[in-house]
Amino acid sequence: MTKQIQPIRGMNDVLPSEIGVWQYLESSAREILAAYGYEEIRVPIVEHTDLFKRAIGEFTDVVEKEMYTFTDQGGDSLTLRPEATAGIVRAVISNGLLRGSRLKLWCAGPMFRHERPQKGRYRQFNQIDVEAIGFAGPDVDAELIALTARLWKKLGIERVRLQINSLGTPESRRVYREHLVNYFRQHESRLDADSRRRLESNPLRILDSKNPEMREIVAGAPLLTEHLDPESRAHFDTLCVMLRDVGVEFEVNPRLVRGLDYYTRTVFEWITDALGAQDAVCSGGRYDGLIAQLGGEPTPAIGFAMGVERVVELLVQAGRAPARQAPDVYVVVSGELATKQGVVLTERLRDALPHRRIELNLGGGNFKTQFRRADRSGARLALIIGDDELGRGMVALKPLREESGQSECPIAEVASRIEAMLADGRR
Ligand code: ATP
Ligand code: MG
Repeated sequence: MTKQIQPIRGMNDVLPSEIGVWQYLESSAREILAAYGYEEIRVPIVEHTDLFKRAIGEFTDVVEKEMYTFTDQGGDSLTLRPEATAGIVRAVISNGLLRGSRLKLWCAGPMFRHERPQKGRYRQFNQIDVEAIGFAGPDVDAELIALTARLWKKLGIERVRLQINSLGTPESRRVYREHLVNYFRQHESRLDADSRRRLESNPLRILDSKNPEMREIVAGAPLLTEHLDPESRAHFDTLCVMLRDVGVEFEVNPRLVRGLDYYTRTVFEWITDALGAQDAVCSGGRYDGLIAQLGGEPTPAIGFAMGVERVVELLVQAGRAPARQAPDVYVVVSGELATKQGVVLTERLRDALPHRRIELNLGGGNFKTQFRRADRSGARLALIIGDDELGRGMVALKPLREESGQSECPIAEVASRIEAMLADGRR
């Protein structure tokens, strides 16, 4: 036998039995985003490698070791997007969408990071990504966070909590950086290899270390919040007031830094205790410097990305996965003429009842087989098209989910009869 081709580690198939909960999340998010005035944008999955190096930062985990980078046939270095913001900002600049206007955009799709695959951490994973570009906040910061809180409520997700922090401006961060480097130097012998390397390149990232042995040292580190510039402090205080006023609960976590370099001021993360180590389900923040950094007009902006696989898992755990949708009607065909007519009559029925799910028995089978399929399909009604009845211009209908006999009906009336029977069964 020919050897089967294996799937790629960390890249998952979403099977039909699982798709309902994905679609439920996607349609709920779509609805809320539209209600807040966000518009969808679709950007390529592949970009020039330089875009991500410049946007995300050379000394981040993502750029240092997680990117899927390759040289294409033309010799260009390209990268499968590890996150969406860089590509969206690139698109906004290259299409000249800015020019003094403000943009509220969202994008959904797969991202790629070469991480160690485990539960909740994959190499291809999906994000719903939302960006508000041209707004300095803090009003938009509060609104964006309120939007995420509304989505949890709509989805029925309760086991999440919000953490917020301010990273200040690049200037205030430089001052803080010095304090931090001094502190970590005092403990240099206890730093792991990654952290020692970062001490030079990106000391703030040490705070985000996933190594449990680093926890104690990190816990003693000076706090960024103690070095905030007055404007960032005021921005953050107003955000806190606004969140309290709209009734979104939060904790200030002064050690919350984000994995990507481009953040300034407000950062936030929704975390859960329901998914083990992979506890972040939605993360975001303000990136006031990024657009200029990528060659656009200086423009303030804020955004977040939601990890779809992790939210899907929360929905499954909370029993919020919608049941698979069964057909309303299963069409059974019996006899040579009926089999020939089956496709035509079913198509006419679909014309008449465009919102009904109607499944035609395909590929033959005797009466018993077809009824077994009808039953397994979960359909509420069977429509039976038989040669004898057809000769008289009739078909038959049989409820499948209740004890009730088969009844005949003229072909011309079948659509209205089906509607009546489906409505009747619901009562
Ligand atoms: P983590 O701390 O879990 O590595 P991150 O800080 O790298 O997350 P972001 O880059 O902010 O994550 O991405 C936003 C969201 O995307 C995360 O909150 C998480 O829900 C999801 N996410 C990130 N990486 C993965 C992954 N490898 N597999 C599945 N979901 C992911
Ligand atoms: Mg990560």
